[in-house]
Amino acid sequence: MATLTVQGLSKTYGKKMALRDIDLDIGDGEFFCMLGPSGAGKTTTLKSIAGLQEIDAGVVKIAGVDMTGVEPYHRNVAMAFESYALYPQKTVFENLASPLRSGRSGSFSAAAQQERIDTVTTTLGINHLQQRLPRELSNGQRQRVALGRVLVRPADVYLLDEPLSHLDAKLRASMRAELKRLGQMSNTTTVYVTHDYQEALSLGDRIGVLRAGEMVQVGTPADIWLRPLDTFVARALGQPEMNLFDAEVIDGHVVALQGAIRFPVTTDLGGARRVRIGMRPGDLHAGHQAVEGSASVLSCSGTIDLAERLGRQIELSVKVGDTDVIVVADGSEALEEGSAVSLSIPLTGVHLFEGTDDPSVDTRRISGAVHHAPGNRQTVTISKSGV
Ligand code: ADP
Ligand code: MG
Repeated sequence: MATLTVQGLSKTYGKKMALRDIDLDIGDGEFFCMLGPSGAGKTTTLKSIAGLQEIDAGVVKIAGVDMTGVEPYHRNVAMAFESYALYPQKTVFENLASPLRSGRSGSFSAAAQQERIDTVTTTLGINHLQQRLPRELSNGQRQRVALGRVLVRPADVYLLDEPLSHLDAKLRASMRAELKRLGQMSNTTTVYVTHDYQEALSLGDRIGVLRAGEMVQVGTPADIWLRPLDTFVARALGQPEMNLFDAEVIDGHVVALQGAIRFPVTTDLGGARRVRIGMRPGDLHAGHQAVEGSASVLSCSGTIDLAERLGRQIELSVKVGDTDVIVVADGSEALEEGSAVSLSIPLTGVHLFEGTDDPSVDTRRISGAVHHAPGNRQTVTISKSGV
């Protein structure tokens, strides 16, 4: 067990800047998730921590000890690779036992080996496969054996590179729960890399969101979900992703959706004339009953363009004026295409970002956003037909 610190880590491949000035401060026993799209630099970060590649600048410390110049073998980290390899002629048991027989973790007695292997295979749901050969396993089972080879060996830090990516959705969800349990049990400092926001939200003690080699935000799952620092982070979490609308600042009010939404500015916007507002589809409520706007709830009306039932929930595309608003409704009410619908959202679910001319550009959160101070009464005016 150990803390893990990364300071000023930068890495280029030729002219390509893969990582720029990454800082990480990961606590002893913490389960830290790194979330980012393909090419963001996740694997490069893990390899740099493991010492598996040269870095251009930066320091890696494990348990407070500078490991930057230390050989991978002596860093006492265990890394699971995205593309994994198993010994094809060895059984699952032997594949899992080999990390316990070699290397700096020393040798384990036969009984201790069996115990560790049993714990890991039970957690990973492959206990019954111990005597099989890799070729007798499915892809998902093989990936779990590869992950087991890392987890079976005690290490100061586990580095896991998208370890569930080859599994189907259902298995991934159940493995997520098991991994969380294993993480709590082993209490080993872990950096877990994924491009799946649900995995990051459910597994991470904290999450670091990486974009194009830069760490955009680090925080608890609640921080990242409730207070995304920019529209990139806002959109990286949530499916369907957060609605973003251009809005104007007029007479101390934020006005969006052709005037269908209007609420008073309570934050210093620094004189900005335009902003963007964000609303998560699941934070919006849709129903046939008209909702009265209030100091704490925004409402407007629209027409259902598309309704798609996804299990218990219904995903809606609602036209408000000429804007499409995506809503995930709880499904308790029949909501049919073509019908009129009333939308509402608590003001606390409205995110405020800097404005832009180019919707493909990410902009920063305006601090404070719409969260209003208790007792600070506000009036919200709703107009259905425009300003
Ligand atoms: P991720 O794991 O988040 O998908 P990577 O760390 O693999 O991202 O890659 C980050 C960036 O560095 C990408 O643009 C990728 O193309 C580039 N890159 C990674 N490895 C190499 C390499 N060996 N040679 C050249 N470019 C690389
Ligand atoms: Mg990768």
